[in-house]
Amino acid sequence: MNAFKNALDQLAIAAKKIDLDKTVWEKLKNPDKSIQVSVPIRMDDGNIKTFEGYRVQYDNSRGPYKGGLRYYPKTNINEVKALAFWMTIKCAVMDIPFGGAKGGIKINPKQLSNSELERLTRVFTRKLSQDIGPEIDIPAPDVYTNPIVMNWIMDEYSKIRGHNIPAVVTGKSVENNGSKGRTEATSLGGAYIIKKLAQKLKFNPKKTTVAIQGFGNVGYNIAKFLYKSGYKIIALSDSKGGILDKNKTGMNPDNIMETKTKEGHIGGCYCVGSVCDCKNYQRITNEKLLQLPVDILIPSALEGVIKKDNGGKIKAKIIVEMANGAITPEADKKINRKHKLIIPDVLANAGGVTVSYFEWVQNRQNYYWGLDEVNEKLKQIMEHSFNNVWEIRQKYNTDMRTAAFILALDRIQTSIKLRG
Ligand code: NAD
Repeated sequence: MNAFKNALDQLAIAAKKIDLDKTVWEKLKNPDKSIQVSVPIRMDDGNIKTFEGYRVQYDNSRGPYKGGLRYYPKTNINEVKALAFWMTIKCAVMDIPFGGAKGGIKINPKQLSNSELERLTRVFTRKLSQDIGPEIDIPAPDVYTNPIVMNWIMDEYSKIRGHNIPAVVTGKSVENNGSKGRTEATSLGGAYIIKKLAQKLKFNPKKTTVAIQGFGNVGYNIAKFLYKSGYKIIALSDSKGGILDKNKTGMNPDNIMETKTKEGHIGGCYCVGSVCDCKNYQRITNEKLLQLPVDILIPSALEGVIKKDNGGKIKAKIIVEMANGAITPEADKKINRKHKLIIPDVLANAGGVTVSYFEWVQNRQNYYWGLDEVNEKLKQIMEHSFNNVWEIRQKYNTDMRTAAFILALDRIQTSIKLRG
């Protein structure tokens, strides 16, 4: 799968709908800058190993480049280019004054010790030190990176510059100039969107079944928010597989997390303390989870999981694409043809970059907000953006993804033109 080709196909669909200026379209077909670096580190056993790192800066017409950093064995330049493009669109959908970027290191972080990971992150930061900065490009956490990794980047970059520069990254620990609410922001943003959907489509959370793929930052936290609102979470998964609640009574994500923490995976059973209930929870594959006949399906792991071969087999009525690029354009078509509703990644998971923007603002003012203030501001932006995309969908009689792209492209086009 070439994620970047998928991204450009999505661009083309929306560009044609609004007759996007040819020069703007041409500019958006390629990133401004693609950086590829080698990241050599000394392993704990004394040997040197070299990894491949990337940073793609896509477009900064609306503000500094902004986007996450992932440590993942299958990361490659095409994937990073696609993710950087989607960040450009996402920031414009949310009307956040940032452009788009993304980065990654091709590595399985689970095979590295903590000190090896820290050395890796510091070498990568040194290699990128001329290309990142609060006014230039601001990384954030993504798959298999977290606030600790962001703290290391901030520390290394500050040492290079000779003074403390917290605004170089977002998603830092709260104790280390991070924003309150950032860790849960992506999922809370998604939960706000689902709440708006429930109002529009008039469904009752207590009668709504949900399946979630991925049980990391995004998957676990959205499961928690939805469980709290009464939704029935009937299937969950992580990289090792999933579990299905056959009785559809709904799982408490915290209990499942307890099992995962103890056993390293979410398991074939549901265990609390020494009590294991393997009768109600059945082990399923990630593929089976995607094809369950649930009301809401929430892919929250990786891109390209809903594609040509399984797109036609999706039975969920609504798909909330929390993972970036989870649905390929071919699958999009098949799902849209069946009149199912897709809430695209560039809207569904934009709560993360929204609170990243709040963190950057707080860092630059050195004035920090309470959690209620962060969450209230997030709610307003998520609801406002959802309403904008919903209206455009109706105006152009199109799907939510194309509507979101239309909104974003219009804003990007205006910025580029006004700059002359
Ligand atoms: P994470 O590393 O915290 O969690 C990733 C989860 O995916 C883990 O549960 C892992 O077990 C699971 N996983 C990995 N490989 C898998 C596979 N092959 N099949 C099924 N599950 C698999 O990452 P995250 O931050 O939760 O990010 C998840 C997705 O959300 C990514 O697409 C990311 O780009 C997107 N996203 C994250 C944020 C954020 O703020 N963290 C913001 C916007 C978008």
